[in-house]
Amino acid sequence: MTRKDFIKNIATLGIATPFMASLLTSCTKENIEFFEEVPANFNGKIIIVGAGAAGLIAGHILQQKNIDFQIIEASSIYGGRVKKAADFADFPIDLGGEWIHTNPSILAKLLNDSTSQADIDIIPYNPKTISVWKDGKLRKRNVASHFYSEYKFKSTTWYGFFEKHIVPNFSEKIIYNSPITEIDYTGDKVTLKNNQGGNFSADKVLVTVPVPILQSNYIQFNPPLPSEKIAAVNNIGFPDGIKAFIEFSERFYPDLTFADGGLINGGDTLYYDAGFGKDAKSNVLALFSVSEETGKYTNLESDTATFEKIMSELDEIFDGQATKYYKKHIIQNWSKEPFIRGSYSHYDNYGDMDILGEPLDNKVFFAGEALHPTDSSTVHGAGESGYDAVVSMISG
Ligand SMILES: Cc1cc2nc3c(=O)[nH]c(=O)nc-3n(C[C@H](O)[C@H](O)[C@H](O)COP(=O)(O)OP(=O)(O)OC[C@H]3O[C@@H](n4cnc5c(N)ncnc54)[C@H](O)[C@@H]3O)c2cc1C
Repeated sequence: MTRKDFIKNIATLGIATPFMASLLTSCTKENIEFFEEVPANFNGKIIIVGAGAAGLIAGHILQQKNIDFQIIEASSIYGGRVKKAADFADFPIDLGGEWIHTNPSILAKLLNDSTSQADIDIIPYNPKTISVWKDGKLRKRNVASHFYSEYKFKSTTWYGFFEKHIVPNFSEKIIYNSPITEIDYTGDKVTLKNNQGGNFSADKVLVTVPVPILQSNYIQFNPPLPSEKIAAVNNIGFPDGIKAFIEFSERFYPDLTFADGGLINGGDTLYYDAGFGKDAKSNVLALFSVSEETGKYTNLESDTATFEKIMSELDEIFDGQATKYYKKHIIQNWSKEPFIRGSYSHYDNYGDMDILGEPLDNKVFFAGEALHPTDSSTVHGAGESGYDAVVSMISG
């Protein structure tokens, strides 16, 4: 059975499956799509700015190729927009990237190791009960087929994937609490400064920071970024983003509720059963909102105000049952994270992506979710862009 047939059968049956294990043991090496082999003509040092999906996959590949590198991260943790909620429920929760928006064999590709025994349970995300909240009414809908090509981790998360399979290989190479504020590429070496005056130096640098960090000129480049690149960066949309998880003592909600008319109106505000397909005993309803309207949750003065806003919305949709059955909650406001500042890139003109991705003097390179030609805005797209940038850096 080919990988494609296997995945097709799983999706048709809609069953939960230990996917990765099966992929790695029942498929031959040839039909798993690993990254191409690249000759590494590079003996210098690379610094990666940012320890999100792009930076971590870039580090993973450099580690495999035995190339000297360091990752410099602004915050106190790795993962960036991939983040976990520790011990909130009886199943693991992703506060950022959660769905696998592509063929799950991407996990094997990101590991880039045909000998890996990684065993990761994947479930198809095929919600059975779906409602739409529109014009003050909750209506049932049958739009399940729209979600058929999406997947989730069953007993881990995107964060858990990096935590278990990627970061342990080079954890000592990540420097935390070190926001880079200057990148000087005038000399033979690239020199970097952090906000405490600390200095770093490398032969090549890979910048993986989110678009708003570039838009705000938080990092001073010397020579300055070309005006064309600045214009391209400023053209990229980056709407507000939030996720919230609320535990209830009763389950009163469907698998999925599109709020504000949801996708049908072009918005992206969903209430979903976070434990769907995960053998969860606790009742956890999650909010995902990334749209031009998301500021109504993210721009309030405190997480408490945001929580009250969400609860009043849920009480309106579900006739007061939210307040009645409430147990506890957790909120992740991505717009207020100082080194993220929103959700993910939205392009009006994909030509801007090519301009953003152009390296500076073959010394400073760029990667991240904004730089994947077909899968921008995703965890795996960010990871693949990190890989692609490493290929350019070490083979040129
Ligand atoms: C609410 C929400 C839900 C999402 N859901 C999904 C989903 O279900 N599935 C999916 O595939 N994707 C999802 N995404 C998108 C996905 O999470 C991102 O596309 C991906 O994680 C981005 O990875 P990255 O490496 O490009 O950037 P990031 O993860 O943002 O990493 C960049 C890193 O750079 C650091 N940094 C910033 N400035 C500096 C500096 N000056 N110096 C040093 N370090 C710096 C940051 O702290 C951060 O760690 C979601 C995103 C959000 C916000």
